[in-house]
Amino acid sequence: MYSVKDIVNYLPTKNHLKERVILITGAGDGIGKSVALACAKAGATVILAGRTPAKLDAVYTLIMAEGLPEPRIFAIDLEGATHDDYVNLAATIDQQFGRLDGLLHNAGILGQRTPLSNYSAELWNKVMQVNLTAQFQMTQCLMAVLEKSADASVLFTTSGVGRVGRAFWGAYAVSKFAIEGMVQTWASEIEDLGSVRINAINPGATRTNMRAQAFPAENPYDLATAEDIMPAYLYLLGPDSKHINGQSLDAQIRKP
Ligand code: NDP
Repeated sequence: MYSVKDIVNYLPTKNHLKERVILITGAGDGIGKSVALACAKAGATVILAGRTPAKLDAVYTLIMAEGLPEPRIFAIDLEGATHDDYVNLAATIDQQFGRLDGLLHNAGILGQRTPLSNYSAELWNKVMQVNLTAQFQMTQCLMAVLEKSADASVLFTTSGVGRVGRAFWGAYAVSKFAIEGMVQTWASEIEDLGSVRINAINPGATRTNMRAQAFPAENPYDLATAEDIMPAYLYLLGPDSKHINGQSLDAQIRKP
């Protein structure tokens, strides 16, 4: 069994993710960049997905400079991506690796912090597209290649405001509530069916651009860094969490 304490203090063995192929969205910056580096250091071949090729290239260079398994880059803008893009992604992974062992849906946008009564419908649709619909479509198209893994982990990213409603978080909060619901629904559909598991992770307050955008007056040095929260990601993307399905877990111990 596991507890939050065990997960946040998880110490992977060397080469814990050796020979695993793991796709990370939003891998060019923030938490996604740290997960990509941490997974590569643990032996995984990472597929860096994101919308800014220069940022993905920089992560590729960092990984190569450390002599880690060569990553792949898949440039994709989740706002405009279509079903064909996801089918193409699945075919490329199948051709190159024959399976996918991990899928971290990390990319997301904040939208605007404003009352729902003022929320623009255009921005609402954009946030829902990037934070929810694109992730549903990508997972659906990658399911066949995930099923080819002996033990595949699909991990969505949630938030505290996706569990308890809070004023002014608008479409972002609603998208994260929907992620929680999708994880529960999908996980119960696949329970006992095969080798794929589906969970959600809440990073908690973490020093990134998104957090600074949401809380501009906060001192970023009071926050955990993306590196600090890697144990939970490594646990949930690796074989030790094989028995966990349909859960929404925290990467940090919540402050009272
Ligand atoms: P950042 O803003 O630092 O990074 C977000 C990443 O998502 C970037 O790599 C960005 O790419 C990518 N992205 C945004 N829009 C698109 C798009 N249309 N297509 C493809 N990629 C896109 O955020 P964090 O690292 O803080 O957040 C990561 C996840 O964690 C998010 O899902 C967020 O909701 C969640 N989270 C974060 C918390 C925190 O305190 N930081 C707390 C709770 C949840 P680019 O850099 O090219 O723009």
